[in-house]
Amino acid sequence: MYDENNIFAKIIRGEIPCDKIYEDENTLFFKDINPTAKIHILAVPKSPCVDISDFVLKNDNEIVSDFFRKIEMVINKMGIKNNGYRIISNSGIDGGQEVPHFHIHILGGEKVGPQ
Ligand code: 5GP
Repeated sequence: MYDENNIFAKIIRGEIPCDKIYEDENTLFFKDINPTAKIHILAVPKSPCVDISDFVLKNDNEIVSDFFRKIEMVINKMGIKNNGYRIISNSGIDGGQEVPHFHIHILGGEKVGPQ
């Protein structure tokens, strides 16, 4: 069950500020408040979804593919495409998910530690 008051829902609604990298109608990219790499960006679809399963099952192909294309665009824009990067999405208790709104971590800008 999606919690409308989770922190990322508040950021999407503009109730809490964020260090924005890119935004459009369907997606928001901003810097993680507690970065674990030189570049640590959170890719967040605006659709109210808890995790990747929820996102893929609730949205049509256009929205899903647009989200992944925007991730590619931001990776390019941040200049980390050539040296490489890591993308991660945590889900649920076993995945250690802290914020229950689907998001993908983009980590790079330096050699990121062991997974
Ligand atoms: P999760 O464990 O859910 O995959 O990761 C949630 C991430 O959100 C964490 O890396 C945490 O540092 C980040 N985070 C939590 N609250 C905020 C916030 O208010 N603003 C920003 N920019 N990031 C946040």
